[in-house]
Amino acid sequence: MHQRSRLKVGLDVPWVTSWSAEQVLGVRPCPSLNGGLAVVQAEQPGCGRPNYSQNHLVRQRWSVRRMLCPMCGKPTTQDDRWSQTGRLVTAGALRQKGLATLLPVTVPDTELLLDAGAISPAHRACADLALERCPHLQAHANPEPLRFPNRWTVLPLKVEARPQPAHALERRTRGEAVAVTSFLQLLGLPDAA
Ligand SMILES: [Zn+2]
Repeated sequence: MHQRSRLKVGLDVPWVTSWSAEQVLGVRPCPSLNGGLAVVQAEQPGCGRPNYSQNHLVRQRWSVRRMLCPMCGKPTTQDDRWSQTGRLVTAGALRQKGLATLLPVTVPDTELLLDAGAISPAHRACADLALERCPHLQAHANPEPLRFPNRWTVLPLKVEARPQPAHALERRTRGEAVAVTSFLQLLGLPDAA
């Protein structure tokens, strides 16, 4: 049995962080992907111990799909979205990594994009609080949070996994491993001219 922690979700521990009580359940259709196959995880935030180094699979996908702050879990708005650990990369560098098909062809190779990784932008107040409290973040954060652009694209990160026998896809794949979505990566695009 996992006991309820005294640590508060969204205050002491980021909303998106996974907890030891939240078992990975395997591959199933997930509402966070409109029913697409994904690795899913039990929902029991605040139970057991926080796994600070691992985001919760389902909450992470919702955070990107719905632009929810990873710290407090509430929606962010265009005027208050900040990336603490995102990196500016050129479109050309991303194209070299094979991500070209996901970028509009009108974006030149020299254009700087904001690769936020798997971390959705936070409210500024939440970002400042997190930096104050989290030594890990202090080591990795940008000196100043970067403002997240108004346009973005989402790239699914795939893992090889075997779907649960109960799901229809199993019959097509005959138990073979298929590429399914784990986390979602977020890429800020330059604002339209
Ligand atoms: Zn927040």
